[in-house]
Amino acid sequence: MSDNKGPRPAALVSGTIIRIDARASQVATPGEVLHCVLRGRLTAAKGVDKRLLAVGDSVKVRPLGPGRGAIEEILPRRTKLSRRAAGPDRREQVVAANIDQVVIVTSLADPPLNLNLVDRYLVAASRGGLAALICLNKIDCGAEADHAAATAALRPYAALGTPLVWTSARTGLGIDALRDRLAGRTSVFAGKSGVGKSALLNAVEPGLALHSAEISAATGKGRHTTTFSSLLTLSNGGLVIDTPGIRAYTLWEVDPNDLDRHYPEIHAERGGCRFANCTHSHEPECAVKEAVAAGRIEERRFASYLRILAGLDEE
Ligand code: GDP
Ligand code: ZN
Repeated sequence: MSDNKGPRPAALVSGTIIRIDARASQVATPGEVLHCVLRGRLTAAKGVDKRLLAVGDSVKVRPLGPGRGAIEEILPRRTKLSRRAAGPDRREQVVAANIDQVVIVTSLADPPLNLNLVDRYLVAASRGGLAALICLNKIDCGAEADHAAATAALRPYAALGTPLVWTSARTGLGIDALRDRLAGRTSVFAGKSGVGKSALLNAVEPGLALHSAEISAATGKGRHTTTFSSLLTLSNGGLVIDTPGIRAYTLWEVDPNDLDRHYPEIHAERGGCRFANCTHSHEPECAVKEAVAAGRIEERRFASYLRILAGLDEE
């Protein structure tokens, strides 16, 4: 007791995980960014799996020396975006924590507009209790007919109340609108590789330290080999989580009986189904299927609902 001459441990400080890689987590604290390990005791005592730490997590850290610390406590998450990990155990992997909105990026061309993937991300956002913003990028590409087709295809989303921005990272069109939508909240960019997520972030804030560039400089490998996530701060106060976890996206389990909750226009019709637990697939007297036939629910949206229900992955 009194013969303990060692220095007193530093007081705990609050911080946010801004980056996770194989070696350590970086935690932004009011004073500095600390490279942190997860307390072994915490891991053992509370069954906390290091892999369950996510960028955006609020933590309590014990400073251990210049630039170093140990994560002693992980605070409850306000929100989370999860996916199913690759591999046989299919465990939950939290892609980002404490975010407000998912910016679903898709492109008009190269790669072509993929609305099934948009729907999948919308389900993920809704399931995580997050707002969604659809960003249609590369509007400098494509013929007039493609623009007209995209306008028509995206109309149902406006009816659902999902905001939409049309952008070109190349010409700068729509970038101000996108930047405004990022102000004062924490967003995560989701979308297939090649749709322009990195280019958009660079257009929103030139000079932003995107890790994809860092890794290609460090390893000489391509930009899609990123293995860590980071949280970026925009000058308008917005925070953006840039994560490779979202690039190869697989939905984290959704209960088949609950899936329609994430399709508002389908959910609105389900009261008319004969069976209370109708999944609107094989059941008779299904009001949802009648609504599809009557044109009140868009066929493509219903088809994407059935794909997710059947457990089919997108690409
Ligand atoms: P990410 O994989 O989603 O991060 O996509 P990138 O930002 O790496 O962009 C993929 C490719 O599309 C790059 O060659 C970009 O230069 C290009 N690109 C991105 N945005 C636009 C755009 O608005 N218009 C055009 N024409 N090309 C774009
Ligand atoms: Zn039904």
